[in-house]
Amino acid sequence: MSKLMYSCEKASRLSSRALEEPLTPTQRVLLRMHLLMCKRCGNFSRQIAFLRRASRKLPEVLEKDKG
Ligand SMILES: [Zn+2]
Repeated sequence: MSKLMYSCEKASRLSSRALEEPLTPTQRVLLRMHLLMCKRCGNFSRQIAFLRRASRKLPEVLEKDKG
């Protein structure tokens, strides 16, 4: 496998890390390439991004719900 290609393990690790801290431009490009070519990791990265957004919004939503 070319070293330009991330393994699925590395791609999923970087997808999670991208939610915590910025990736380098190279990491971003290579990760995106992997996500475009690998359906499994593409789904995984969408799911964790969605969960992250949802859990950030949760306190707000609960707060609104009280009123
Ligand atoms: Zn993959």
